[in-house]
Amino acid sequence: MACPICNRPTDKAYRPFCSRRCADVDLGKWLTGSYTIPVGRDDAEDDDPDLPQDDDGKLH
Ligand SMILES: [Zn+2]
Repeated sequence: MACPICNRPTDKAYRPFCSRRCADVDLGKWLTGSYTIPVGRDDAEDDDPDLPQDDDGKLH
């Protein structure tokens, strides 16, 4: 059996993957629907694009 991400032999600790990294890649793939995930980014998806902006009525 080969790792579905990189085709290397799997490690039983991480199967069906060969490493934690590939397991993370696969998880990210499922979460985002994309196959290419930059690994190693510390990306806390905490960004809210709809933050309430409260600057009308304020004088500068
Ligand atoms: Zn792998």
